[in-house]
Order: sequence, then C-alpha cells, then structure tokens
Amino acid sequence: MSLTTGTLYIISAPSGAGKTSLVKALIDSEAMIRVSVSHTTRAMRPGETDGVNYHFVDREQFHGMLEKSEFLEHAEVFGNLYGTSQTWVEKTLAEGYDLILEIDWQGAQQVRRLMPNSRSIFILPPTQEALRHRLTNRGQDSGEIIEQRMREAVSEMSHYVEYDFLIINDDFAHALSDLKAIFRANQLQQDSQQQRHAGLLSELLG
Ligand code: 5GP
Repeated sequence: MSLTTGTLYIISAPSGAGKTSLVKALIDSEAMIRVSVSHTTRAMRPGETDGVNYHFVDREQFHGMLEKSEFLEHAEVFGNLYGTSQTWVEKTLAEGYDLILEIDWQGAQQVRRLMPNSRSIFILPPTQEALRHRLTNRGQDSGEIIEQRMREAVSEMSHYVEYDFLIINDDFAHALSDLKAIFRANQLQQDSQQQRHAGLLSELLG
C-alpha cells in the first residue's frame, strides 16, 4: 500500500460536453487514477455494461443503500437517482489512487462539504451550437427532447463558479492536456512529493 493517500476529484459537465471521453482518455494513460462507478436507477442505455458504466439498481435497492448510509453523496438528476459508494471511495483513496467522481453539481456540493480537500473541475463545451450539435448527434432523440437537454445543460453550467478548475472542450487533445496538467500539478505539490521522496530528501539533507 502507498504511503500517500490519493486526491479526490469531482468532474462535472453538462451532458454533451465530452466529459466521459476525456475521463476515459485520462485514465487510459495514467496508472494511478481510478474512476468511481456510481449506482443509478436509470435504465441501461445501449452499449452500457452493468458494473462498468454504472451499477444499475432499482429504486428499492437504492433506498435500501440510502438507509444503510452507503452513499458518500447522492442526488436525483433528471428523474433518476444516482449515488457514490462511500466504502469504495475511502478504500481507493487509502490505496494511494487519485479518484474521479463524475457527478452533477448537487453531488459536488455534498462532497465539497464532506471532503474539503477534494478538487473540482467543470468541463464546458466551446459554444451553445457545439453543445446542441453534440446532443443532436447522439441519435434518435426528438427535437423536443434535445431542447429539454439544452435547458438542463444550461442549468448544470450555471454552477461552474463553484468549481476550482474550468476546462473548455474546444479541441479534444488540448482539453485532455489541460486535464492532465491539473492532476500532474497536484501530484507535484510539496507535501505529496515529500512523502513520495522521503528517502531522497533525507539523503540530500543528511
Ligand atoms: P447520465 O445518466 O447521462 O450518465 O448522467 C446524468 C447526470 O448524472 C450527469 O450529470 C452525471 O454527472 C450525473 N451523475 C452520474 N453519477 C452520479 C452520482 O453518483 N452522483 C451524482 N450526484 N450525479 C451523478
């Protein structure tokens, strides 16, 4: 087990801003970052796998977990319940991994209160048109549903001021490099480096 505990990152974005692809690319290239798999009551989408994208549960199971205080945070988003497993978060951070929670602004507020050392990142699309285009390109949805998603996106984006970092996802590679820079800078902080390189420091100063 590592001597350092990891940092908890909250990442929020409106649907269509490219958050999931950016996070996937980040963890594919970084061995010490993990992503929490939330529990949700929403229906599985085509291409999703239980236990990978989400732990899919029914409302009764979700409420059972709530009663047993198994969630670090939870929220109702667009009519579905979502929650983050507290035990998994604690265990993963204790193992020294940095950990990402892909959650909405309501969950972000709860986590900030409980874990003030967490860092939060908000990902924005470059323009409203780009967002609409991405929401439209997702497939079969009607114009009315897309307009509803646009309203929901604007409502989520209105919370950007509550976050430590802001990334504009105009160009994927650029946004990914911004995201990596945030994690890298945090890993280089003096207290983390001091623990990581205790041997070197005592040799240099000995
Ligand atoms: P989707 O159902 O499209 O995957 O996610 C819908 C929204 O729920 C997104 O804003 C996503 O960040 C948020 N979400 C996903 N998991 C959680 C969670 O565990 N807690 C909270 N508070 N929000 C979540």
